[in-house]
Amino acid sequence: MNNNDLRRYIFTFLRKEPKELCFICKDICVWDNTVKKHVSMNKDIYGFLHTNQTYCLECWYKYKIPQCAII
Ligand SMILES: [Zn+2]
Repeated sequence: MNNNDLRRYIFTFLRKEPKELCFICKDICVWDNTVKKHVSMNKDIYGFLHTNQTYCLECWYKYKIPQCAII
């Protein structure tokens, strides 16, 4: 196994994109594990809103986003 193979092998374990970003400040909320407290809205509120959004708690409080926000 040469160095390039090894590097490629290691990179397969590294995530390039975070799992969850704060919708407002773009802070990483979840990488492989939770790194920042956050609120996720995965509910399909009215069936047409874009609801797969995550907010860190700071933005959640700052912008007072209600549980079923219409954004
Ligand atoms: Zn945020």
